[in-house]
Amino acid sequence: MDKTDKMNTARKARSKTNPDALLEKALDSFTLSQRETIRERFKSIPVSFRRRYIKVLKGKSRPLAVESFCCECMGWGKVPEEIKNCTSPACSLYLYRPYQ
Ligand code: SF4
Repeated sequence: MDKTDKMNTARKARSKTNPDALLEKALDSFTLSQRETIRERFKSIPVSFRRRYIKVLKGKSRPLAVESFCCECMGWGKVPEEIKNCTSPACSLYLYRPYQ
């Protein structure tokens, strides 16, 4: 294996775990205009929350979708404490929020 092959192999390995590449894969089931909207939102999400958001986009977990929404609602701050101590019982997600 020459140097170029090694670089290509490393690039492929990185792309499998790269959040941007994972996002593009998750966007397959969305229309072109929806994809643009999602990409814009993705940029505003802190890096540490992006993998969770990608899983939500794949539609695999409703609890994770609720958690992701609550995280965003709380401004991506001190997530477990702030969601646990949410002060909005009128919110539709209040009884379903994580970390209760
Ligand atoms: S339950 Fe609380 S933290 Fe979750 S979305 Fe509603 S207001 Fe925000």
